[in-house]
Amino acid sequence: MKRLATTCPHPGLRAWVWGLLACGAILAHAAHAAPAANAAPAAARPTAAQGGLCSSGQRQSPIDIPASRATPGPALRWDYRAAPLRVVNDGHTVRVRFAPGHKLWLGEQAHTLQQFHFHTPGGDRLQGEDFPMGMHLLHKSAAGRLVSLVVLFRLGAEHPALAALLPHLPARTPAQGQPEQTLAAVQVNAAQWLPASHAYYRYEGSVTDTPCTEGVLWLVMQQPLELSAAQLARLGQLFGPNARAVQPLHGRVVTLTN
Ligand SMILES: [Zn+2]
Repeated sequence: MKRLATTCPHPGLRAWVWGLLACGAILAHAAHAAPAANAAPAAARPTAAQGGLCSSGQRQSPIDIPASRATPGPALRWDYRAAPLRVVNDGHTVRVRFAPGHKLWLGEQAHTLQQFHFHTPGGDRLQGEDFPMGMHLLHKSAAGRLVSLVVLFRLGAEHPALAALLPHLPARTPAQGQPEQTLAAVQVNAAQWLPASHAYYRYEGSVTDTPCTEGVLWLVMQQPLELSAAQLARLGQLFGPNARAVQPLHGRVVTLTN
């Protein structure tokens, strides 16, 4: 416990929140916690996806998205609607699942929303900026292609949809394999989690956990949203730091479409 005292300084509110998360990270991942160099977001331990494509893949996610000039591309369109909350905390993250019927359109191509879940820190970076939280909305095309739509969050104002959802998110339990819960009285609408700007970055990436399968299309919204420090702290109580470290580009081109 002595190390906690020496590695979790709390000199200010923002640093205090990060210190709290760093402490939580150490407690939650005591078995493989390396010494925390500082209390900044980057100190949070990424999940260790190793072996196979996780180590040798050339199109891995997440990445640090470089500055990109806008190029013409298909517009994003959403057909998401309210649905009863189906949720599970698998210890790694909290997932909100959807029955078929919610669609993301990329030009003329439709992709069915399967679930969304949260990462702390955010995973993908924008021009070096690390985000405290990221949301992945996972979709599948009729042909079976996975599309991961990413919304990144900075610290700031409380996010209203997250405020409505947080009281209903299940705590993690010591035993894995927690069953999915359906809360018919609670409605969730993924449309409430989208930024006003539809500008997006696009790159070829992978699943971020073992076996790190490639061929996943990543669409990262250019405009970050905000969540409050209290909301971030609450997410930190529900699951530990769970973002994979950024991966090399290996010559991939990232496009920006307005
Ligand atoms: Zn994810």
